[in-house]
Amino acid sequence: MSKKFKHMETAIIHEGYDSKELLGSLTPPIFQTSTFTFDTAEQGAARFAGEEEGHVYSRIGNPTVQVLEQKLAALEKAEKGLAFSSGMAAISAVLIALTKANDHIICSSGLYGCTFGLLSMMDEKYNIQTDYVDMSDVKNIEVKIKPETKVFYIETPINPTMEVIDLELVINLARKHNVLVVVDNTFSTPYLQRPIELGADVVVHSATKYLSGHGDVIAGLAAGKKELMEQIAATTQKDIGGVLSPFDAWLVIRGLKTLPLRMDRHSDNALEIAEKLKQHPKVKRVFYPGDPDALGYSVMRKQMKSGGGTLSFEIDGGKEEAQGFLNKLQFISIAVSLGDTETLIQHPATMTHAVIPDERRRKMGITDSLIRLSVGIEAWQDIWEDLDQALNR
Ligand SMILES: *Cc1c(COP(=O)(O)O)cnc(C)c1O
Repeated sequence: MSKKFKHMETAIIHEGYDSKELLGSLTPPIFQTSTFTFDTAEQGAARFAGEEEGHVYSRIGNPTVQVLEQKLAALEKAEKGLAFSSGMAAISAVLIALTKANDHIICSSGLYGCTFGLLSMMDEKYNIQTDYVDMSDVKNIEVKIKPETKVFYIETPINPTMEVIDLELVINLARKHNVLVVVDNTFSTPYLQRPIELGADVVVHSATKYLSGHGDVIAGLAAGKKELMEQIAATTQKDIGGVLSPFDAWLVIRGLKTLPLRMDRHSDNALEIAEKLKQHPKVKRVFYPGDPDALGYSVMRKQMKSGGGTLSFEIDGGKEEAQGFLNKLQFISIAVSLGDTETLIQHPATMTHAVIPDERRRKMGITDSLIRLSVGIEAWQDIWEDLDQALNR
């Protein structure tokens, strides 16, 4: 049920669930069941025929999972949300549903390593080719459009170089050419950026990151128009089957409650750390869209509430210096993933983006000295002290 709250902070907590319907249980119960019983054979037949509302089997729908799906739809201002067992399950279900053999995709020049792997596999298996273009100028996109172009796939801010893409410009171009726009909104979350409001067709999420926020679950989400989402639900979600478990859905619902508080703190901390890093002699460049000196700052201000909690920077030296720096950190954890309460640091060239061939990776701006930092919600002074001592040693 959509209750249409005016403020997102309220919707996050109250959308999609009414305790009155479930014995007054304040938090949504975990419906840990694989299947649902029918009163009669006729009722079972009617549910399968879609003539009667109700549950059938948890791969097709589960009440706990649906609370999360409704919350996401409300937050993204989308008609319908879907939950998956991981961000990659969501991304693959969406991209495979929207394309057929010999179609064409245009993608932002940087993206999550496994999404790159998926697109490469779709090319090998189904001749669905992808062109990677610098979307900071829409002319670069326009020259690549062909009759077979089905989807623009966008990450903004781009992982891990933190470039931002002007969604309004790219979406307007897509409209003109009848191309669908899919945005990976993992880094921003709907609290900071809502691509559907700007005209995007589908948003996808790794809910493993900021949405759940506590580093204790792998989960994915997608949202968009009802018709499109129902098509995905009935095909690549149901038949490939990467659905979210009720318990994991419950963990995401719980984490989500504090999303606004966490995102504000992540963003404030990241801005402080970016300022400090910029002044450090061992740091060559800092990439953070919330930095007023950043290239994408004006676009960030146009479409995002703040710069978010993730930044990257290049240190003086190469792979060895980058690894040496990580090894000297005291409480900051060396780990992939992002958006957790803990500050996490990683080396994209040898970790998250190692699957991307060297030459393409360099073209994406991922050098051997680039380090990605997911700034946690600890006191920023402590985070800085740890970074500073490791840089100075
Ligand atoms: C982590 C991540 C993914 C993949 O999500 P999983 O939940 O790990 O499958 C996709 N896109 C972005 C931007 C990510 O950070």
